[in-house]
Parts: sequence; structure tokens; C-alpha cells
Amino acid sequence: MLALVKAAAAPGLELCEVPRPAVGINDVLIQVLSAGICGTDLHIHAWDGWAQRNVHPPLVVGHEFVGVVEEVGSNVTGFAPGEVVSGEGHVVCGRCRHCLAGRRELCAHTVGLGVGRDGAFAEYVVLPMTNVWRHWVGIPLDVAAIFDPLGNAVHTALAFPVLGEDVLVCGAGPVGLMATAVARHAGARHVVVSEPNPFRRELAVKMGATVAIDPAVTGLDEVFGSLAMVEGYDVALEMSGNPDALRAAIGAMAHGGGIAVLGLPAADVPIDMAEVVRKMLTIRGIYGREMYETWYKMSVMLLSGLDISPVITHRFDFHDHEEAFDAARRGESGKVVMSWPT
Ligand code: NAD
Ligand code: ZN
Repeated sequence: MLALVKAAAAPGLELCEVPRPAVGINDVLIQVLSAGICGTDLHIHAWDGWAQRNVHPPLVVGHEFVGVVEEVGSNVTGFAPGEVVSGEGHVVCGRCRHCLAGRRELCAHTVGLGVGRDGAFAEYVVLPMTNVWRHWVGIPLDVAAIFDPLGNAVHTALAFPVLGEDVLVCGAGPVGLMATAVARHAGARHVVVSEPNPFRRELAVKMGATVAIDPAVTGLDEVFGSLAMVEGYDVALEMSGNPDALRAAIGAMAHGGGIAVLGLPAADVPIDMAEVVRKMLTIRGIYGREMYETWYKMSVMLLSGLDISPVITHRFDFHDHEEAFDAARRGESGKVVMSWPT
């Protein structure tokens, strides 16, 4: 089959012929229809420090996808050829304390699809049946392709109650954009988005932001007056990975507020801990999605009016993967999706 492969410990990806993945007794073989490009894939493409530490070539990359079940292992019940599915990209150990208690998202031994095992930028991908999500009738295929990052957005946006609250979203990359729509759908009063990139600020307003500001020009507290906000943000979603954004958010929070942090900074982040204490803030790290409560919530919200389709700004055929990666890298984009012609 054709797959996009990190063939050697060097920058770039190659589209090449590789063997179809073997199907173990508990596995599901999925024919990939389309797949989204994530920041992780850009890191692996660029072969930066993180990629050099975490990726061992040769590796088929990619983890956000939708496809159709092609074949199931002899032990698999509950999935059948022809069903439309996506994969949970975190393959957990199944045996640790948290896995055994059903808190699989807390597993400390997670292996990432397209990072620690062969991924989904390929004609076929294989996953254990416990990592396969069957899509509900009515979920658009395009949106199904990005359930993985939508799950990051949903898990983070719902980490603290947002009904009637004023929410700050730091960073309007694909995940911040989707979180904006989710916070709005979940009943936030105001959703203020902070994002330096004007293309993404415009998209944020399309996704439901009350206002989108450039943090280099407008302080996070400068909108309080026009929005009738009194004490500050009740909830902040840190989705930029930029240390300045987290520090600014702490400064603009109301007492008792909650900050859910999804963004992954590249280095240590010094913060004013005394302010966190004085304001009695809760800072919560978010990694991945809850298995499978987040997947359930995503499906329910999409079928009850949540529209995240404007986040998909570019679509490419897999053969044009270099153009697709360029579009994702440039930042004049939301989510970039590649499809395999069938
Ligand atoms: P992205 O890099 O496309 O988006 C980040 C955005 O933040 C960019 O648009 C950038 O312009 C903006 N930004 C930069 N500095 C800023 C500042 N000071 N204030 C406000 N915005 C600023 O990333 P993404 O794909 O949307 O992912 C968001 C973050 O979440 C990334 O850090 C990514 O690594 C991380 N992530 C974490 C998980 C997890 O499981 N924890 C999963 C997916 C992504
Ligand atoms: Zn585990």
C-alpha cells in the first residue's frame, strides 16, 4: 500500500510502498478515507528536537483520520466490514491502575498512533478494537476525519463548567478554533479569543467568538468594559503553548477561576504562583481525550447543532502531501485534510 513515511532520521516525509499492516486477533484493519494534519505531524516532518527524541524511523505518520472497516481479527466482535470509523490515537496499556479502573486517559504507558506505532497517513491502518470508534449516523465525513483534535478541544473546553461563564481562549489554531465553538455551544456568555494571526482571528469570529483580539495590541482586560465583565475570566483554555499567553491569562482571571492547559510549551514556563494562590485558581493539564466520554459528547453536540466545519480550510489529495504540509505550516489555515482517492 502507499503510505507517508518518515523513512530516515532527517527532515521530510516520503510517499512510498509499504506492506499492509498485519491484523492481530484483537485488531481492526481500516481503509483510510481522509486524514487531518496535526502539529505533531509538522514536528515529525521538520525532525525537530522533540521528534528526534520520540520517533524511531521508519514510521508511517498521521493519527487523525476517518475510514471504513476492511477486516477484523478473529477475536473481534462489534465491528464489521463497511462501517465508518475513526481511531482513538492513544493506545493504552490496559493493565495499569488507571486502565483497570476505566480511567484510560490517565494511562502513563500510552503509545501514540503515528508516533510510537505506524499511523494513518496510509491506505490502511490497524488499531486494537478498543481504539476504534464507530461513527453515528449523521456525522459528516469531513468532521469525522478530525474527531481526534475535536476531542482535544471538547475535553479542554468542558474541563470546567462554562454555562453562563466568560471564557478566554488563548491561541486560535485548529484546536482553539474548535474549542471556541464548543464553549459557545455549551452556553458560555462571552468567548474572548486571543490570537496574533489575523487570518485565525477572523476564523475565530466565524466559530462563535464574541471578540478576537491580538495579544500584542490589546490587553486581555481591555475588553472587560465593553463586555460588562466585572472581575475577569471565569475559565481560560490555554491552546497556544506560548508561555506569555499562560502568564497573561493568569493575570486576567477572576478569583476562583479555572485554567485548562492543552498547549504544550517547548520549555519551562515561569509563572506568578503567588497570584495563582491569591486568586485561588485551578490549573489543570489536559492530554488527549477521555475514552470514550469525550467521543460520546462530540457526537451528541455535533448532532445537536455544534458546527465546526469552518475550521477545515484546506483539502488535498494525498499525492499533494507537500502542498498540504505547507498549508498547515503557513498558519493561513485552520485544519488541513488529505484524502485518499478510492
Ligand atoms: P497551533 O500551533 O496551530 O496553534 C497555536 C496558536 O497559538 C497559533 O495560531 C499561534 O499564532 C497562537 N499563539 C502564539 N502565541 C500566542 C499568544 N501569546 N497568545 C495567544 N495565541 C498565541 O496548534 P493547535 O494544533 O491548535 O494545538 C494547540 C496547542 O495544543 C499546541 O501547543 C499543541 O502542541 C497542543 N496540543 C496538545 C494536545 C494534548 O493532548 N495536550 C493535543 C493536541 C495539541
Ligand atoms: Zn494503562
